[in-house]
Amino acid sequence: MGLTLTEYHRLTPLPRPGGVLYVKPGARGYRDPVYELLQKVVTPYGEKALDPNPGVGLGSLPLEGRMVVERLETSRAALRCLEASGLRVRLAPPWEAEENAYHLVVLALPAGRGTAYVQATLVAAARALRMGGRVYLAGDKNKGFERYFKEAQALLGYGKVLKREGPVRVALLEKEKEAPPLPALWHRFAATLLGESFTFFHLPGVFSAGKVDKASVLLLEALVGEVGREGIRGKRILDLGAGYGALTLPLAHMGGEVTALEDDLVSVLSLRRNLVENQLTALVLHSDVDEALTEGEAFDIIVTNPPFHVGGAVILDVAQAFVEAAAARLKPGGGFFLVANPFLKYEPLLEERFGAFRTLLVREYKVLFAQKANRG
Ligand code: SAH
Repeated sequence: MGLTLTEYHRLTPLPRPGGVLYVKPGARGYRDPVYELLQKVVTPYGEKALDPNPGVGLGSLPLEGRMVVERLETSRAALRCLEASGLRVRLAPPWEAEENAYHLVVLALPAGRGTAYVQATLVAAARALRMGGRVYLAGDKNKGFERYFKEAQALLGYGKVLKREGPVRVALLEKEKEAPPLPALWHRFAATLLGESFTFFHLPGVFSAGKVDKASVLLLEALVGEVGREGIRGKRILDLGAGYGALTLPLAHMGGEVTALEDDLVSVLSLRRNLVENQLTALVLHSDVDEALTEGEAFDIIVTNPPFHVGGAVILDVAQAFVEAAAARLKPGGGFFLVANPFLKYEPLLEERFGAFRTLLVREYKVLFAQKANRG
Protein backbone atom coordinates (compact mmCIF):
# COMPACT_ATOMS: atom_id res chain seq x y z
CA MET A 1 0.00 0.00 0.00
CA GLY A 2 1.19 3.52 -0.81
CA LEU A 3 4.72 4.72 -1.41
CA THR A 4 7.79 3.69 0.54
CA LEU A 5 10.01 6.52 1.77
CA THR A 6 12.63 5.75 -0.88
CA GLU A 7 9.95 5.91 -3.57
CA TYR A 8 8.62 9.17 -2.11
CA HIS A 9 12.03 10.86 -2.31
CA ARG A 10 12.80 9.59 -5.83
CA LEU A 11 12.83 12.11 -8.68
CA THR A 12 11.18 10.99 -11.91
CA PRO A 13 12.21 12.49 -15.27
CA LEU A 14 9.29 13.34 -17.54
CA PRO A 15 10.04 13.82 -21.22
CA ARG A 16 9.18 17.36 -22.36
CA PRO A 17 9.83 19.19 -25.60
CA GLY A 18 13.44 20.32 -25.35
CA GLY A 19 14.46 18.15 -22.40
CA VAL A 20 13.19 16.50 -19.25
CA LEU A 21 11.35 17.88 -16.27
CA TYR A 22 11.94 16.15 -12.94
CA VAL A 23 8.92 15.60 -10.73
CA LYS A 24 8.30 13.94 -7.37
CA PRO A 25 5.42 13.35 -4.96
CA GLY A 26 4.82 16.35 -2.71
CA ALA A 27 6.11 18.87 -5.28
CA ARG A 28 3.62 21.44 -6.64
CA GLY A 29 2.79 21.98 -10.29
CA TYR A 30 2.77 18.40 -11.48
CA ARG A 31 -0.48 16.97 -12.87
CA ASP A 32 -1.99 20.36 -12.11
CA PRO A 33 -4.36 21.66 -14.83
CA VAL A 34 -3.47 25.29 -13.99
CA TYR A 35 0.21 24.74 -14.80
CA GLU A 36 -0.68 22.56 -17.80
CA LEU A 37 -2.82 25.28 -19.37
CA LEU A 38 -0.30 28.01 -18.56
CA GLN A 39 2.38 26.02 -20.34
CA LYS A 40 0.19 25.81 -23.47
CA VAL A 41 -0.29 29.57 -23.61
CA VAL A 42 2.94 31.36 -22.63
CA THR A 43 5.21 32.81 -25.31
CA PRO A 44 8.34 34.96 -24.88
CA TYR A 45 8.08 38.74 -24.48
CA GLY A 46 11.21 40.84 -24.00
CA GLU A 47 14.44 39.47 -22.55
CA LYS A 48 13.80 38.70 -18.89
CA ALA A 49 11.00 36.72 -17.24
CA LEU A 50 10.08 35.98 -13.62
CA ASP A 51 8.21 32.91 -12.38
CA PRO A 52 7.41 33.55 -8.70
CA ASN A 53 5.52 30.26 -8.16
CA PRO A 54 7.20 27.71 -10.43
CA GLY A 55 6.55 24.42 -8.62
CA VAL A 56 8.38 21.84 -10.73
CA GLY A 57 8.72 24.41 -13.54
CA LEU A 58 6.07 23.54 -16.10
CA GLY A 59 4.46 26.99 -16.50
CA SER A 60 7.55 28.90 -17.63
CA LEU A 61 9.19 25.96 -19.40
CA PRO A 62 8.27 27.15 -22.94
CA LEU A 63 10.37 30.29 -22.32
CA GLU A 64 13.50 28.33 -21.49
CA GLY A 65 16.33 29.05 -23.91
CA ARG A 66 14.32 31.86 -25.54
CA MET A 67 14.72 34.46 -22.79
CA VAL A 68 16.29 34.64 -19.31
CA VAL A 69 13.91 32.99 -16.82
CA GLU A 70 14.31 33.54 -13.07
CA ARG A 71 12.34 31.43 -10.64
CA LEU A 72 11.63 32.02 -6.96
CA GLU A 73 10.53 28.92 -5.09
CA THR A 74 9.85 28.25 -1.39
CA SER A 75 9.23 24.48 -1.35
CA ARG A 76 12.22 22.25 -0.78
CA ALA A 77 10.55 19.43 -2.77
CA ALA A 78 9.94 21.68 -5.79
CA LEU A 79 13.43 23.17 -5.50
CA ARG A 80 15.00 19.71 -5.72
CA CYS A 81 13.04 19.06 -8.94
CA LEU A 82 13.95 22.41 -10.54
CA GLU A 83 17.63 21.93 -9.76
CA ALA A 84 17.61 18.39 -11.14
CA SER A 85 15.95 19.70 -14.33
CA GLY A 86 18.74 22.28 -14.72
CA LEU A 87 16.29 25.20 -14.41
CA ARG A 88 17.51 28.42 -12.84
CA VAL A 89 15.95 28.95 -9.40
CA ARG A 90 16.50 30.93 -6.20
CA LEU A 91 15.16 29.88 -2.81
CA ALA A 92 13.06 32.93 -1.89
CA PRO A 93 9.47 34.05 -1.37
CA PRO A 94 7.79 36.02 -4.19
CA TRP A 95 8.13 39.35 -2.36
CA GLU A 96 11.91 39.13 -2.65
CA ALA A 97 11.77 39.53 -6.44
CA GLU A 98 13.95 42.26 -7.92
CA GLU A 99 11.91 45.40 -8.70
CA ASN A 100 11.47 47.00 -12.13
CA ALA A 101 13.53 44.22 -13.63
CA TYR A 102 11.30 42.01 -15.79
CA HIS A 103 9.49 42.21 -19.10
CA LEU A 104 7.32 39.22 -18.32
CA VAL A 105 5.86 37.47 -15.26
CA VAL A 106 4.43 33.96 -15.49
CA LEU A 107 2.23 33.26 -12.49
CA ALA A 108 0.18 30.23 -11.51
CA LEU A 109 -1.90 31.73 -8.68
CA PRO A 110 -0.81 30.16 -5.37
CA ALA A 111 -4.49 29.90 -4.40
CA GLY A 112 -3.95 27.02 -1.95
CA ARG A 113 -1.80 29.29 0.24
CA GLY A 114 -4.53 31.74 1.17
CA THR A 115 -5.60 35.24 0.20
CA ALA A 116 -2.81 37.10 2.02
CA TYR A 117 -0.13 35.12 0.19
CA VAL A 118 -1.82 35.57 -3.22
CA GLN A 119 -2.23 39.31 -2.66
CA ALA A 120 1.41 39.76 -1.59
CA THR A 121 2.47 37.75 -4.66
CA LEU A 122 0.36 39.92 -6.99
CA VAL A 123 1.83 43.14 -5.60
CA ALA A 124 5.35 41.67 -5.78
CA ALA A 125 4.72 40.68 -9.41
CA ALA A 126 3.49 44.19 -10.25
CA ARG A 127 6.59 45.71 -8.60
CA ALA A 128 8.93 43.27 -10.35
CA LEU A 129 7.64 44.27 -13.80
CA ARG A 130 8.95 47.15 -15.86
CA MET A 131 6.38 49.62 -17.17
CA GLY A 132 4.73 48.06 -20.22
CA GLY A 133 5.67 44.57 -19.04
CA ARG A 134 3.21 41.67 -19.19
CA VAL A 135 1.81 39.01 -16.85
CA TYR A 136 0.38 35.63 -17.69
CA LEU A 137 -1.99 34.89 -14.81
CA ALA A 138 -3.37 31.37 -14.46
CA GLY A 139 -5.90 30.01 -12.00
CA ASP A 140 -9.06 28.06 -11.35
CA LYS A 141 -12.42 29.84 -11.19
CA ASN A 142 -13.42 27.60 -8.29
CA LYS A 143 -10.34 28.81 -6.40
CA GLY A 144 -10.81 32.55 -6.71
CA PHE A 145 -9.50 33.22 -10.23
CA GLU A 146 -12.10 35.90 -11.07
CA ARG A 147 -11.47 37.81 -7.86
CA TYR A 148 -7.67 37.66 -8.20
CA PHE A 149 -7.87 38.62 -11.88
CA LYS A 150 -9.83 41.75 -10.86
CA GLU A 151 -7.23 42.54 -8.18
CA ALA A 152 -4.44 42.09 -10.73
CA GLN A 153 -6.23 44.46 -13.14
CA ALA A 154 -6.55 47.05 -10.37
CA LEU A 155 -2.79 46.76 -9.73
CA LEU A 156 -1.60 46.67 -13.32
CA GLY A 157 -4.12 47.90 -15.86
CA TYR A 158 -5.59 46.30 -18.95
CA GLY A 159 -6.08 42.54 -19.06
CA LYS A 160 -8.07 39.85 -20.84
CA VAL A 161 -8.69 36.13 -20.53
CA LEU A 162 -6.80 34.33 -23.31
CA LYS A 163 -7.83 30.75 -22.72
CA ARG A 164 -10.36 28.68 -20.82
CA GLU A 165 -10.35 24.93 -20.24
CA GLY A 166 -13.00 23.65 -17.83
CA PRO A 167 -12.67 25.85 -14.73
CA VAL A 168 -9.08 26.86 -15.58
CA ARG A 169 -8.27 30.30 -16.99
CA VAL A 170 -5.17 32.03 -18.32
CA ALA A 171 -5.24 35.83 -18.61
CA LEU A 172 -2.73 38.31 -20.02
CA LEU A 173 -2.28 41.72 -18.40
CA GLU A 174 -0.07 44.70 -19.06
CA LYS A 175 1.54 47.04 -16.51
CA GLU A 176 0.26 50.56 -17.20
CA LYS A 177 0.81 52.22 -13.82
CA GLU A 178 3.17 52.36 -10.86
CA ALA A 179 2.70 49.49 -8.43
CA PRO A 180 1.76 50.13 -4.78
CA PRO A 181 4.14 49.24 -1.92
CA LEU A 182 4.19 45.68 -0.58
CA PRO A 183 1.60 45.00 2.14
CA ALA A 184 2.82 44.44 5.72
CA LEU A 185 4.13 40.87 5.69
CA TRP A 186 4.62 39.93 9.34
CA HIS A 187 1.64 39.26 11.58
CA ARG A 188 1.71 38.56 15.27
CA PHE A 189 -0.58 36.84 17.76
CA ALA A 190 -0.43 35.44 21.27
CA ALA A 191 -1.42 31.92 22.29
CA THR A 192 -1.50 29.91 25.50
CA LEU A 193 -0.39 26.31 25.03
CA LEU A 194 -0.27 23.84 27.95
CA GLY A 195 -0.67 26.79 30.31
CA GLU A 196 2.29 28.73 28.92
CA SER A 197 1.95 31.89 26.80
CA PHE A 198 3.82 32.34 23.54
CA THR A 199 4.05 35.10 20.97
CA PHE A 200 3.89 33.87 17.40
CA PHE A 201 4.96 35.84 14.34
CA HIS A 202 4.28 34.63 10.83
CA LEU A 203 4.53 35.57 7.17
CA PRO A 204 1.64 35.05 4.71
CA GLY A 205 1.01 31.52 3.48
CA VAL A 206 1.72 29.57 6.66
CA PHE A 207 -0.61 26.90 8.01
CA SER A 208 -3.15 28.18 10.57
CA ALA A 209 -2.36 31.90 10.31
CA GLY A 210 -3.40 34.08 13.25
CA LYS A 211 -4.44 31.24 15.55
CA VAL A 212 -2.97 27.89 16.58
CA ASP A 213 -4.86 24.98 14.99
CA LYS A 214 -7.17 23.09 17.35
CA ALA A 215 -5.61 19.82 16.19
CA SER A 216 -2.17 20.96 17.33
CA VAL A 217 -3.56 21.88 20.77
CA LEU A 218 -5.13 18.43 21.09
CA LEU A 219 -1.89 16.72 20.06
CA LEU A 220 0.02 18.58 22.80
CA GLU A 221 -2.60 17.64 25.41
CA ALA A 222 -2.57 13.97 24.39
CA LEU A 223 1.24 13.86 24.35
CA VAL A 224 1.59 15.31 27.84
CA GLY A 225 -1.22 13.02 29.04
CA GLU A 226 0.75 10.03 27.76
CA VAL A 227 4.36 10.77 28.76
CA GLY A 228 4.01 13.64 31.26
CA ARG A 229 6.12 16.81 31.20
CA GLU A 230 9.04 14.89 32.67
CA GLY A 231 8.82 12.52 29.70
CA ILE A 232 9.69 15.43 27.41
CA ARG A 233 12.64 17.03 29.25
CA GLY A 234 15.96 16.10 27.66
CA LYS A 235 14.34 13.89 25.01
CA ARG A 236 15.24 14.09 21.32
CA ILE A 237 12.02 15.15 19.63
CA LEU A 238 11.25 15.44 15.92
CA ASP A 239 8.48 17.75 14.68
CA LEU A 240 7.54 16.69 11.14
CA GLY A 241 6.03 19.56 9.16
CA ALA A 242 6.67 22.12 11.88
CA GLY A 243 4.96 25.18 10.34
CA TYR A 244 5.59 28.33 12.40
CA GLY A 245 6.22 26.19 15.45
CA ALA A 246 2.92 25.58 17.28
CA LEU A 247 4.32 22.23 18.48
CA THR A 248 8.05 23.01 18.45
CA LEU A 249 7.82 26.01 20.79
CA PRO A 250 5.93 24.37 23.69
CA LEU A 251 8.04 21.20 23.37
CA ALA A 252 11.29 23.22 23.46
CA HIS A 253 9.90 25.18 26.41
CA MET A 254 9.33 21.92 28.33
CA GLY A 255 12.98 21.03 27.79
CA GLY A 256 12.74 18.81 24.71
CA GLU A 257 15.67 18.88 22.26
CA VAL A 258 13.57 19.56 19.21
CA THR A 259 14.50 19.14 15.56
CA ALA A 260 11.89 20.81 13.33
CA LEU A 261 11.56 19.80 9.68
CA GLU A 262 9.57 21.95 7.27
CA ASP A 263 9.31 22.01 3.46
CA ASP A 264 8.09 25.59 3.14
CA LEU A 265 10.64 28.40 3.43
CA VAL A 266 8.07 30.97 4.59
CA SER A 267 7.17 28.69 7.52
CA VAL A 268 10.86 28.07 8.26
CA LEU A 269 11.51 31.83 8.43
CA SER A 270 8.49 32.29 10.72
CA LEU A 271 9.57 29.44 13.02
CA ARG A 272 13.16 30.72 13.28
CA ARG A 273 11.88 34.15 14.28
CA ASN A 274 9.49 32.62 16.83
CA LEU A 275 12.30 30.75 18.57
CA VAL A 276 14.29 33.97 18.91
CA GLU A 277 11.28 36.03 20.05
CA ASN A 278 10.38 33.44 22.69
CA GLN A 279 14.02 32.83 23.72
CA LEU A 280 13.93 29.14 22.91
CA THR A 281 16.21 26.89 20.88
CA ALA A 282 15.53 24.13 18.38
CA LEU A 283 17.20 22.94 15.22
CA VAL A 284 15.12 24.08 12.22
CA LEU A 285 15.81 22.43 8.88
CA HIS A 286 14.28 23.29 5.52
CA SER A 287 13.46 19.75 4.47
CA ASP A 288 11.18 17.69 2.26
CA VAL A 289 10.00 15.18 4.89
CA ASP A 290 13.24 13.80 6.44
CA GLU A 291 15.70 14.41 3.59
CA ALA A 292 17.69 17.01 5.56
CA LEU A 293 18.45 14.55 8.41
CA THR A 294 21.64 12.53 8.35
CA GLU A 295 21.46 8.78 7.89
CA GLY A 296 20.70 6.92 11.09
CA GLU A 297 19.58 10.00 13.04
CA ALA A 298 16.93 8.79 15.51
CA PHE A 299 14.48 10.28 18.04
CA ASP A 300 12.69 9.40 21.28
CA ILE A 301 9.46 11.15 20.30
CA ILE A 302 8.08 12.18 16.91
CA VAL A 303 5.07 14.49 16.58
CA THR A 304 3.11 15.59 13.54
CA ASN A 305 -0.03 17.39 12.44
CA PRO A 306 0.48 16.27 8.84
CA PRO A 307 -0.61 18.15 5.71
CA PHE A 308 -3.22 16.67 3.47
CA HIS A 309 -3.51 19.49 0.97
CA VAL A 310 -0.89 20.50 -1.57
CA GLY A 311 -1.94 23.43 -3.71
CA GLY A 312 -5.58 22.89 -2.81
CA ALA A 313 -5.85 19.22 -3.79
CA VAL A 314 -6.22 16.52 -1.15
CA ILE A 315 -3.13 14.39 -1.39
CA LEU A 316 -1.99 11.91 1.17
CA ASP A 317 1.43 11.10 -0.31
CA VAL A 318 3.17 13.55 2.01
CA ALA A 319 1.24 12.49 5.12
CA GLN A 320 2.03 8.89 4.30
CA ALA A 321 5.71 9.74 3.87
CA PHE A 322 5.55 11.37 7.34
CA VAL A 323 4.34 8.06 8.83
CA GLU A 324 7.06 6.16 6.95
CA ALA A 325 9.68 8.64 8.17
CA ALA A 326 8.43 8.33 11.76
CA ALA A 327 8.72 4.55 11.61
CA ALA A 328 12.25 4.86 10.22
CA ARG A 329 13.45 7.64 12.57
CA LEU A 330 12.23 6.45 15.97
CA LYS A 331 14.57 4.81 18.46
CA PRO A 332 13.38 1.40 19.70
CA GLY A 333 10.70 2.08 22.32
CA GLY A 334 10.15 5.61 20.95
CA GLY A 335 6.64 7.04 20.48
CA PHE A 336 4.92 8.59 17.47
CA PHE A 337 2.03 11.03 17.98
CA LEU A 338 -0.14 11.98 15.02
CA VAL A 339 -3.24 14.18 14.95
CA ALA A 340 -5.71 14.05 12.07
CA ASN A 341 -9.23 14.58 10.92
CA PRO A 342 -11.32 11.61 12.08
CA PHE A 343 -12.25 10.79 8.47
CA LEU A 344 -8.61 10.24 7.41
CA LYS A 345 -7.69 6.57 7.62
CA TYR A 346 -4.16 6.43 9.04
CA GLU A 347 -4.91 3.37 11.18
CA PRO A 348 -4.11 0.65 8.59
CA LEU A 349 -0.77 2.29 7.79
CA LEU A 350 0.16 2.59 11.49
CA GLU A 351 -0.83 -1.02 12.02
CA GLU A 352 1.35 -2.06 9.09
CA ARG A 353 4.40 0.05 10.00
CA PHE A 354 4.35 -0.27 13.80
CA GLY A 355 2.41 -3.51 14.36
CA ALA A 356 -0.06 -1.70 16.64
CA PHE A 357 -1.41 1.72 17.57
CA ARG A 358 -3.67 3.34 20.16
CA THR A 359 -6.23 6.11 19.83
CA LEU A 360 -5.41 8.55 22.64
CA LEU A 361 -8.22 10.99 22.09
CA VAL A 362 -11.12 11.66 19.74
CA ARG A 363 -12.83 15.04 19.62
CA GLU A 364 -12.98 17.28 16.53
CA TYR A 365 -9.70 15.53 15.71
CA LYS A 366 -8.18 12.24 16.74
CA VAL A 367 -4.73 11.73 18.21
CA LEU A 368 -3.12 8.41 17.32
CA PHE A 369 -0.11 6.90 19.08
CA ALA A 370 2.24 4.18 17.90
CA GLN A 371 5.38 2.83 19.49
CA LYS A 372 8.44 1.38 17.81
CA ALA A 373 9.13 -2.14 19.03
CA ASN A 374 12.04 -2.59 21.43
CA ARG A 375 14.84 -4.67 19.94
CA GLY A 376 15.34 -8.28 21.03
N1 SAH B 1 3.13 21.62 13.08
C1 SAH B 1 2.51 22.85 12.63
C2 SAH B 1 2.10 22.80 11.14
C3 SAH B 1 1.19 21.67 10.75
S1 SAH B 1 0.58 21.79 9.07
C4 SAH B 1 1.29 23.13 13.49
O1 SAH B 1 0.89 22.24 14.22
O2 SAH B 1 0.74 24.24 13.40
C5 SAH B 1 1.66 20.74 8.17
C6 SAH B 1 2.98 21.37 7.78
O3 SAH B 1 3.68 20.44 6.95
C7 SAH B 1 2.86 22.67 6.97
O4 SAH B 1 3.59 23.70 7.58
C8 SAH B 1 3.47 22.30 5.61
O5 SAH B 1 4.18 23.36 4.99
C9 SAH B 1 4.41 21.17 5.98
N2 SAH B 1 4.75 20.29 4.85
C10 SAH B 1 4.03 20.02 3.75
N3 SAH B 1 4.68 19.18 2.95
C11 SAH B 1 5.86 18.90 3.55
C12 SAH B 1 6.97 18.09 3.21
N4 SAH B 1 7.00 17.41 2.08
N5 SAH B 1 8.01 18.04 4.07
C13 SAH B 1 8.00 18.74 5.23
N6 SAH B 1 6.97 19.53 5.60
C14 SAH B 1 5.91 19.61 4.78
